[in-house]
Amino acid sequence: MLATKKARGANRAEFAKLLKTKRNELLTQIEGLRQGVQVERVTEDEVGQASWAQMEHLTFVTLEQGQKTLKEVEAALTRMARGTYGVCESCELPIPEARLRALPWARYCVKCTERLRRN
Ligand SMILES: [Zn+2]
Repeated sequence: MLATKKARGANRAEFAKLLKTKRNELLTQIEGLRQGVQVERVTEDEVGQASWAQMEHLTFVTLEQGQKTLKEVEAALTRMARGTYGVCESCELPIPEARLRALPWARYCVKCTERLRRN
């Protein structure tokens, strides 16, 4: 279970940086979307009801996705502080670095992700 101990020290600093950059990006994006919603509300009259609803829906979907990712990023930073970063939460094996590069806030290895998706 404590495969964590041999966690790659140098790379962890790199992933910490990636995660923090991503968190800042998401915070900026979320803030921008929130302000966008407020600004657009003012000009509501000029926008047809249908397209307004569509735009609002799209904004909220993006906002929701951004907030979800932000949560994952913050959870990954917490795992990093605890020293469990890069370990699959399901099978407790180290998550391959290639996967972490593609998705730095991954909780599970590819196998477990697929298994959980099927369930
Ligand atoms: Zn796994």
